[in-house]
Amino acid sequence: MAGSGAIGLFTWKSQQTGNGGKMLHGAIGSLLLAMLTVPRSVPAAKVRCACDVPPCTNATCLGQVCFVSRSLQDGEHTQSKGCLSNYLENCKGYPMEEYAIRCCLSDMCNWNLSFPVKGKQIQNSFSLKNLLLMILVPLLALLVLGGLLMLSLWKLVRRCKRQLPFRHSDLGDSDMMLKASVVGDSTLQDLLNEDCTTGSGSGLPFLVQRTMARQITLVECVGKGRYGEVWRGVWHGENVAVKIFSSRDEQSWFRETEIYNTVLLRHDNILGYIASDMTSRNSSTQLWLITHYHENGSLYDYLQRTVLDTEACLSLACSIICGLVHLHVEMFGTQGKPAIAHRDLKSRNILVKNNRECCIADLGLAVMHSQDGDYLDIGNNPRVGTKRYMAPEVLDEQIRTDCFESYKQTDIWAYGLVLWEITRRTVVNGIVEDYRPPFFDMVPSDPSFEEMKKVVCTDQQTPTVPNRLYSDSILSTLAKIMKECWYQSPSARLTALRIKKTLKKLGSSLEKPKADY
Ligand code: ADP
Ligand code: MG
Repeated sequence: MAGSGAIGLFTWKSQQTGNGGKMLHGAIGSLLLAMLTVPRSVPAAKVRCACDVPPCTNATCLGQVCFVSRSLQDGEHTQSKGCLSNYLENCKGYPMEEYAIRCCLSDMCNWNLSFPVKGKQIQNSFSLKNLLLMILVPLLALLVLGGLLMLSLWKLVRRCKRQLPFRHSDLGDSDMMLKASVVGDSTLQDLLNEDCTTGSGSGLPFLVQRTMARQITLVECVGKGRYGEVWRGVWHGENVAVKIFSSRDEQSWFRETEIYNTVLLRHDNILGYIASDMTSRNSSTQLWLITHYHENGSLYDYLQRTVLDTEACLSLACSIICGLVHLHVEMFGTQGKPAIAHRDLKSRNILVKNNRECCIADLGLAVMHSQDGDYLDIGNNPRVGTKRYMAPEVLDEQIRTDCFESYKQTDIWAYGLVLWEITRRTVVNGIVEDYRPPFFDMVPSDPSFEEMKKVVCTDQQTPTVPNRLYSDSILSTLAKIMKECWYQSPSARLTALRIKKTLKKLGSSLEKPKADY
């Protein structure tokens, strides 16, 4: 048989011609040469080849040489097998991207023959394409991923700015220069009056807040609360109050900071907010809330040492309810605010100003509500209100926590108790009582939840209203109001707005002394 039977030869021209001469000298070379010359020396001998091109009929053909070729058509490689009549003429040519051929000389030798993925030019053009794909596809994916990442980062930063503006406040001393230029020689009033607030909120721009905070000198500790200390500090010669939160009450700091900075809360009867700051000292976090300083201290402190006349009593009561109305009412428009319920109203959280009006402090537990989409923001403070001031529905855990009205109704319960504390210290017919906290005669100091629950829910007790109040028209109205704050049924209680209207009317009747409720 042609080609000495068993050995089929296929060749790229480079192998065949370039090496021919050298091989003559070796045994392998001789053998190859012998095989190469076979077709020429035995031209008549035919081989059967696998065939898949016309005019083959039964998948085989007879020829001098079997071949397998590959050609590029419409961007795709197709492979063909068949017979050729002349080896040297047809089996030449470098393998190209467009066309390549391999030949062999034994029977059906092209049956299993195919193209190795070799050959410089083919490989190159392949790898160029692959390379492009390998670069472009990941690059595109990276670009898309990067875009998405940037977008979510931007959203996060925007949210953080709104909620936790002071997370990155450890600029340390490097911002000393900034301090001087940002705050300059302004007074507190200048700063707060300037139209440079945080936008929607009632605070200063965050950088100014931090800068100010770091220029404050703490002077004396004026109070210790359940979760921290309050200091009198001095900023540019002016008094400020600095509430330093203990780290276990950081949620109150977050919440209060958040509410003051997202909501327009400037009101005569809400404690004036100045700044918040978070610093890292000796690996512990310090949380500061800086507000106006009121030297009279809390209403609780004030009532210990001061007795009131009717006018002062009404002024305190009226100012507190004005502050509470401002909190409770949702305001619309660009200068609007959501409705806010305080949830920890008590005489310790109310401060007395020099004009004998009050302002409400401590918004660490507050909840916000907006009618737009019925949005209720309860925050995530694990702290609970003060047990002594808890409404029955809070103590027996029947409060509808998903309903904003419920929170306002608990504020009203607490307002009634504060009113009771104030009226006890009001002189009527020359009589006045010592300061006492609500339920002082029914529960021990620092009562437990269960002790409060028994008195307020099971026994349905309310503080005893002093009889002497009924001998004064204004004070008897206040007595009536407090009782209407203490209905067991939350919805039966007065609203803050209703109380405010009544007290305003009482106030105007004081001017022209004709009280009528
Ligand atoms: P509590 O945890 O009992 O509510 P706070 O920590 O809110 O107490 O306040 C503790 C005390 O610090 C108050 O009772 C009051 O005497 C004083 N205090 C708080 N804020 C101010 C302020 N802005 N100006 C003056 N005194 C304040
Ligand atoms: Mg407090």
